[in-house]
Amino acid sequence: MKIMYNPSTCNHYGVCVEEAQEVFSFAEDGSLLIQTYDIPANLEDKVRDACMMCPTQAIQVEELIQTYDIPANLEDKVRDACMMCPTQAIQVEEE
Ligand code: SF4
Repeated sequence: MKIMYNPSTCNHYGVCVEEAQEVFSFAEDGSLLIQTYDIPANLEDKVRDACMMCPTQAIQVEELIQTYDIPANLEDKVRDACMMCPTQAIQVEEE
């Protein structure tokens, strides 16, 4: 299992640090430190909980994410759909 982290949506609430200190911590400057993106099996449940509890969905479990190539003529429509998705279940990953 891997995790994805989007620092632009992280509000540094620290829920992940409380849930899985083995993986998440804060640097002195307040930025989030992630020890490893490849989560060992014994920490998967903790990290999965941390991802589910993250209030901004800045951290996500990668196994839940599938990626698709979008043709150029549909990019604007798909981008709009992603922005309007109330659960952020679909997101654009710009190249
Ligand atoms: S719980 Fe989410 S928003 Fe809070 S510090 Fe962790 S990644 Fe950032």
